Amino acid sequence: MTPRNQTTDVLIVGAGPTGLTFANQLQRYGINYIIIDKKSGITTKSKALAVQARTLELFDNMGHDLCQKAIDWGLTGVGGE
Ligand SMILES: Cc1cc2nc3c(=O)[nH]c(=O)nc-3n(C[C@H](O)[C@H](O)[C@H](O)COP(=O)(O)OP(=O)(O)OC[C@H]3O[C@@H](n4cnc5c(N)ncnc54)[C@H](O)[C@@H]3O)c2cc1C
Repeated sequence: MTPRNQTTDVLIVGAGPTGLTFANQLQRYGINYIIIDKKSGITTKSKALAVQARTLELFDNMGHDLCQKAIDWGLTGVGGE
């Protein structure tokens, strides 16, 4: 439970990929944030079976060898195969 009098510089509403990526970037630059979601937990449905090239480019930009790690952890396909 979040305290009622909690303050933050940024409030992110929605902990999907967009909100989580934004939170990651704010963390990276040392900016204070709170992220909230109307759901109480993670979804049981897959909504990210495939990772697009542009997503990998953003991972690469985030550092920590994240792009290569994502490739190593996953399976690679060409042309939707
Ligand atoms: C079946 C399916 C398969 C998919 N497969 C892929 C795939 O293989 N590869 C791929 O790249 N993309 C895939 N997608 C698309 C991908 O899931 C979306 O592009 C991505 O989830 C969008 O992220 P988002 O954070 O913008 O929105 P969302 O994932 O919709 O997240 C929004 C979040 O905000 C919360 N929220 C909304 N309103 C409020 C509110 N008023 N207060 C608090 N919280 C709120 C929601 O609960 C949710 O958690 C798939 C989508 C579906 C439906």
